[in-house]
Amino acid sequence: MQIISSPSQIQKTCLRLKKKGRRIALVPTMGYLHDGHLSLVRLAKKHADFVMATIFVNPKQFGKNEDLSRYPRDEKGDLKKLQQAGADLVFMPKLTDMYPEDFQTYVDVEMVTQTLCGASRPGHFRGVATVVLKLFNLTQPDVAIFGKKDFQQLVTIQRMVRDLNLPIRVIGAPIVREKDGLAMSSRNVHLNAEERQDASAIRRGLIKIQDVARRKNLTASQVRSLFYKILPAKKSIQVDYVSCVDRRTLEFLPKIKKTHTLIAVAVFFGKTRLIDNVEV
Ligand code: AMP
Repeated sequence: MQIISSPSQIQKTCLRLKKKGRRIALVPTMGYLHDGHLSLVRLAKKHADFVMATIFVNPKQFGKNEDLSRYPRDEKGDLKKLQQAGADLVFMPKLTDMYPEDFQTYVDVEMVTQTLCGASRPGHFRGVATVVLKLFNLTQPDVAIFGKKDFQQLVTIQRMVRDLNLPIRVIGAPIVREKDGLAMSSRNVHLNAEERQDASAIRRGLIKIQDVARRKNLTASQVRSLFYKILPAKKSIQVDYVSCVDRRTLEFLPKIKKTHTLIAVAVFFGKTRLIDNVEV
């Protein structure tokens, strides 16, 4: 497995691979890898003959009071896991190479970033879209894989690809979970034992909503109260949002529709903000 950190070198390497007719799949990550990330690498291998992962903690997608400084890192462990999962190349650029001091160009995807995490994290998706377009330009992928855990991110990138006519197929991968249903996340490492136990209520709440929605027409506010009932009532647990949206446009829905509804949640356990979702 090759490791490259220079942007110009990765671009040269990828252009050369393309000339030779290789089909490139890209899996962008911020590192501290778990089985969710590795499932994307495995899926990528089914769609391409050259699989590239990137590791870059992108400061442009973190707000001022967010957890950039404590975002977990484990370069050595990540490289080992990527090699075992069968990645061919890892691109891990330096911050100053991605964003020199005079950097001033950004990508703004408008409508689909207005709700959910976009509403509570202003500027987050501008940072995401900008770094992903840079990574696309540097690595020239035919296919790019994103997890459905970050559903709004997936939709934002799909929108950007369509709007800017990028010749890339964006594939959404299923959410990989711990045994108790908690969605795997690099941020789970910050949870203390009690928070970790409480956090499994997110999945239980979403399953409950899915179950009831099969039998009853639920309004958005009924969905919310079902979720609150399952979540332990503790001061340290704060719901950021529980929302029903159309999974194509991410517009808020007053009630669950027969098709295309996504229930998405974000919940703080202490200082750690976790997200999850379910398609109903
Ligand atoms: P991150 O390192 O958190 O930026 O995530 C990198 C990629 O992995 C994104 O496309 C995420 O959606 C995806 N991902 C993160 N956690 C999971 C999970 N539990 N299951 C599937 N994909 C995931």
